[in-house]
Parts: sequence; C-alpha cells; structure tokens
Amino acid sequence: MKRILFSHSYFLRFDPKQWALGQPYPPLGTIYAAALMRNNSYDVSLFDTMFCSHPDSVKNELRKSKRDFFVLYDDGFNYLTKMCLTNMREAAFSMCKIAKAEGCTIIVSSSDSTDRYEQYLNEGADFVIIGEAEHTLLELTDHLSAGLNDFNSIRGLAFIKDGNIVKTPGRPVLKELDQLPLPAWDLVDINAYREMWLKHAGYFSLNMSTTRGCPFKCNWCAKPIYGNRYNSRSPENVLAEIKMLKANFQMDHIWFCDDIFGLKPGWVQQLAVLLQQENIKIRFKIQSRADLLADEATVQALAASGCENVWIGAESGSQKVLDAMDKGIMIAQIREATQLMKENGIKPSFFIQFGYPGELKEDIRLTINMINELLPFEIGISVSYPLPGTSFYEKVKADLKKKTNWTDSDEMALMFSNTFPPSYYKQLHKYVHQNYHKHLAKNSLVNLLNNPFSVDIKSIRKAVSMLYHAPATLIEGIKLKKLEEA
Ligand code: SF4
Repeated sequence: MKRILFSHSYFLRFDPKQWALGQPYPPLGTIYAAALMRNNSYDVSLFDTMFCSHPDSVKNELRKSKRDFFVLYDDGFNYLTKMCLTNMREAAFSMCKIAKAEGCTIIVSSSDSTDRYEQYLNEGADFVIIGEAEHTLLELTDHLSAGLNDFNSIRGLAFIKDGNIVKTPGRPVLKELDQLPLPAWDLVDINAYREMWLKHAGYFSLNMSTTRGCPFKCNWCAKPIYGNRYNSRSPENVLAEIKMLKANFQMDHIWFCDDIFGLKPGWVQQLAVLLQQENIKIRFKIQSRADLLADEATVQALAASGCENVWIGAESGSQKVLDAMDKGIMIAQIREATQLMKENGIKPSFFIQFGYPGELKEDIRLTINMINELLPFEIGISVSYPLPGTSFYEKVKADLKKKTNWTDSDEMALMFSNTFPPSYYKQLHKYVHQNYHKHLAKNSLVNLLNNPFSVDIKSIRKAVSMLYHAPATLIEGIKLKKLEEA
C-alpha cells in the first residue's frame, strides 16, 4: 500500500491578523482529497501546518516513517488561500524542497500553483495539479504506483518532461458531489482548533462546503480551482455530514464556506425541512449575494434553518463602481436584502472593496454613506487585489511592476496606480472602520435614549463607546484628508 503525507501551506502564525483573530478553520479541501485517496486504498496521514511555526517541522514528520508521496494540497474553499499570500508561497517552496530531500514524489495543488505552475515546478514540485484536484491526484498516483511514466493522458496536470514544462488539457469539474466521500475529519486535531476558538470567540465553529464554483462573473474574482460551474451536494448528503460533525465534535456553529450558499432553487427550503424533521438545531454563517437575498421566502428559509449571519459582497455604494466590476447587483438590492435579513433576525455583513479602477472620491463617499445608513453587523474592508485569470488583472497587469501579491492578509497594499496613492487606501481602511463603529455606537445611544428600560448591557457598552469612537474618527479623518491633499 502506497503511503501519502498530505499537508498544506497555510501557516496561521505567518498571517498576524488571522493569528490575533484566533478563528482558524481546518483545511477542508485537503481532507476531502485525503478521504478519496483513503477510499482508494492509499495509506494517508495529515501534517496540518495551521499551528506550526516553521516549514522545517515537516522534516520530523517525514522522518517518522517513509512516505511515497508528499501532497501539498491547499484548502481551495478558504478565501485566505485564494489570496496567494507570499508568506505561504515561500513556506510551500521550503516544504517541497524538504520533502524532495526525504525522497518523496511531490504533488502540489493550490490556487497559487494553478496560476504559477512553472514556478512551483522549478522550486521542486514533480507535478502540479491544475484546478479541481481530487480525481487528477488519484489518477496520477495510480499511474505512478503502477510504474507508468507517460502522464500526457492525465487531464489537469503540469510537469517537466525532457527539460520542458508540459501542461495537459484541463479536467472538467465534478458534477456529482455526493459521490465524494465525506472529508477525513478524523485526521484533524480538532481540539487544537476548538481551544483557539473558545479562547478567542467563546464558541467553536467548523467549516463545511455544500457547493463548488460560482456562475457569476464579477470581473476581479478568480476561481482557479472550482471555476464558473455551480454544482451542489444534495441536502440529504449535507445533513449526513452535519450529523456526523455534531456527534463527533459537538461544534457550536458552522461556516458554510461556499462562494454562494443555496443558489439552487428550493435547496435552502429542503435543508430547512430536513433539519426540522430530524429536530437538528444548528447555527451557521454563509456567503451569498444581495440579489439572491432580496427575496423574502429565501431569507425566511435561511432563518428557519439556523442562519445567523450572511456575508454579502456589497463592495461599493456606487452603482458606477458595481457596474464597472460586472457585479450584476443594484444598490437597491443591497438595501432590500439588508432590510429583509434584519427583519428576519439574520445579521447582514458586508465585504467592502476600495480602489477599483475609476473609483473617485465621490464613489468612496457613497460607499461610506451606504455603510452608515445600512449599519451591517460586521464589515470586511479590502482594496482591489488583482489575481491572474481575471479581466481586472489583465487591465492593471502592466502596472503591477514587481509586486503582485500581499505577504499576509492584512497588507492592504494597492499594487497598481489609482486615484490616490497606496498610503491613502491604508488610512481609508482605518477611517472607515472607526466611522462605522462610531455609527454603531450612535445607533445604540439612540436606542438607549428611546427605550431606556429595554436595552441590555452589551448595548449600553456600545453606546458608551461613542466617547472613544467619535474623537478617534475625527483624528483618522484628519489624517485621511492630509493624504488626500498630499
Ligand atoms: S458572486 Fe462572489 S464568488 Fe461569484 S464571481 Fe462574484 S465575487 Fe466571485
């Protein structure tokens, strides 16, 4: 039986903002692949780098027992790995070299290696899997195990042959997701994740995926692994995993990490019925789109099934910018979806993006006004980040010079020329956060004054925080103004 050591290149410690947040999710994509390989008679183990301090630690793991294959397989469901951060890329290269020196065949699958397969091959990978990887991996290891050395027939692969890089035709994505085994959760040290979550968040959340791919075409969004086709697991198959996770790990909460949760008509309603029939209560958060949530029946079904929080890509309060992004969403839909969610007890959260080409001061002002007016539960601010394979990347490619990726998820560097210099967008991020918290505090203060006997201690604290956020917003605003005028 051939032996595989699976790993991935996301080191939480190398991403200071995420380390401080302390809410890591296990590498779901990795344990999906591990489960398929185990079902096909491979002996699999996992070296989870999430809490490791150095890529060298893989050496000890490899020396414990001989492995035939070292499979560096990133979690393609996690947006942090989709950002292709250079700290993680360098760690991946180091691990490839270490595993090579230990005599393994190195196979890599990730968003970054799909985009930069030549670089990974030159850094020691024997094979890079392009796109969705489970079945390519199985076909490749079966080939290698049988002693075959012609890989041209394996779709979705890059390798070096006679000094030249060969890339085979792409592999179509999987349509029947129920045919995949459930992820190999038993390989993960769940207690390490639970401890960190409880310490930082006070509850324990695990991640699940119910779909792959997204059919929408926002022109800055790269989908190198699961692509533009949307395929879904059945609600019954998802329910089986929820039951298994609850029985084995007693998590308090689930993050459904799909790009778009429940896009298939009736899917959310079917899951809600199944959960009710089995009397299973879950709390969860999802990602979706404003246009899909401007529909009362969908929002009600989400609320009935336990959805607490929905992140939508609101991106901008300027219709001009949304249209330039090919977002396919109207500002009115963001407003309507937010209102519907709040009415149904779901917390709406917004991804906001500044710095898209053509965005002017007036567009930024509209975005800030939208946040102040709609007061989402949380906001996540970023600046436009060009990733290969998108038309946005092609638009700014010539301007990228040497820097094309951030070192970690908090770098916030604008990597191309725009209306304002990069320092402005970093300051804008600080200002908008302060301003948002000031408006939340103001809202709590108004509620407190209107209903002094019906507010809880949390709301009182929030109202009092006005004393901090009002002057802090003023200071951040002055700094922003200076950069604007520089
Ligand atoms: S809807 Fe979300 S996942 Fe789909 S293309 Fe747009 S940004 Fe990407």
